[in-house]
Amino acid sequence: MTYVVVGGGLAGAKAVETLRGEGFDGPITLIGAETERPYERPPLSKGLLLGTDKPDSVFVHTMEWYAEHNVDLRLGATATAIDRDAKVVRLAGDDEVAYERLLLSTGSSPRPVPVPGGERALLLRTLEDSRRISAAVTASSKVVVVGAGWIGLEVAAAASSRGAEVTVVGSTALPLQKVLGDRMGQFFADLHRANGTGLRLGTHVTEVTPTEVVLADGTRLPADVVIAGIGVTPNVALAADAGLATDDGVLVSGSLATSDPDIFAAGDIANVDHACLGRRVRVEHWDVAIHTGQAAARAMLGQEVAYDRLPYFFTDQYDLGMEYTGSAPPDAEVVVRGDLTNREFIAFWLVDGRVAAGMNVNIWDVADQIESLVRSRAVIDPRRLADPSIDLAALRD
Ligand SMILES: Cc1cc2nc3c(=O)[nH]c(=O)nc-3n(C[C@H](O)[C@H](O)[C@H](O)COP(=O)(O)OP(=O)(O)OC[C@H]3O[C@@H](n4cnc5c(N)ncnc54)[C@H](O)[C@@H]3O)c2cc1C
Repeated sequence: MTYVVVGGGLAGAKAVETLRGEGFDGPITLIGAETERPYERPPLSKGLLLGTDKPDSVFVHTMEWYAEHNVDLRLGATATAIDRDAKVVRLAGDDEVAYERLLLSTGSSPRPVPVPGGERALLLRTLEDSRRISAAVTASSKVVVVGAGWIGLEVAAAASSRGAEVTVVGSTALPLQKVLGDRMGQFFADLHRANGTGLRLGTHVTEVTPTEVVLADGTRLPADVVIAGIGVTPNVALAADAGLATDDGVLVSGSLATSDPDIFAAGDIANVDHACLGRRVRVEHWDVAIHTGQAAARAMLGQEVAYDRLPYFFTDQYDLGMEYTGSAPPDAEVVVRGDLTNREFIAFWLVDGRVAAGMNVNIWDVADQIESLVRSRAVIDPRRLADPSIDLAALRD
């Protein structure tokens, strides 16, 4: 059997690691368009911008690891087409690689700002992007961040912490509103304002000039540096051009198989038929890249796989750390256990009286218990949920 992985990010690296970890000793090729070996992206908007993480700490494996594990790592190599009849992946420059089982883990690309001058806004996806932003932001910079989602807010927090004067422009009335809803959106707005970051919400950018960002109401925000985090687009062209089923990502079964049984997909691009949630989900997060990469590798080896890990993600902003486990609509009922004002609490989102998701803020080692609550599907009295004197484990009884 010959395994080929296209996409040298976290999902691809974890898949390769799992293939070897499960004892496969045949040929493996990992094809990555970037010149860097696979790395983790979360530090790019946090520790690397703050200077608290060492640049080398982001890599998934050492360079020697690939040689020691006999992985043919092709960096700076872009797959341009998949010939499913011939079972080969074509690379830019006329090279090609034959496969028997293929994993696609091509990740996402950041959306550019679609206004005149929008190309002046720095985007953040790669190590090189992070280095560029880090070099551009100084303690005396005026920084405008376009987008009040996770990446925009993390970059704003890092730039602010480095002394820059930061304004975030967001299209919704509150940051993160489409993910967390009104109450927790307000919480994040308060967090940023309390740390000196300005927020211009419910508006959008109409132009980026060399010195300003122009808003819909005509406001002109002075800007030495403009950084955009307005979402990403999954890189599905390779899959779609090969005739694989796509719809908001690459459609995969619970075993991460695409509509071609010899081709699998993992990470940001995988729209998974989720065994626990009972519906399709596509999640653009670190934990999902790790676990779908691992699960896809096991499925490619012929093992029985039914992907059912609950979505999980985290953020760090200023002195706040949080983890979110589960999946809930933003308008679900929110119950808070703990203290919003001192920023130590767990927020639960309830759907039909059941916990659909939980977010622990500056409280640690509870994500597993939150996961158990979600999985239990128990109907829980919101007053008990809000009562910190009742153990989380006891709530399921
Ligand atoms: C700045 C930043 C901060 C983040 N912070 C968090 C966080 O705090 N918490 C969290 O949960 N998640 C976070 N994420 C999201 C997380 O990093 C992604 O979900 C994860 O990287 C997805 O992994 P992936 O392997 O699917 O894709 P990627 O990491 O995007 O890797 C895909 C790779 O495939 C390559 N590729 C694409 N097309 C081709 C081709 N045709 N041929 C060859 N190679 C190709 C790309 O160049 C890329 O190197 C963050 C992301 C960013 C950008």
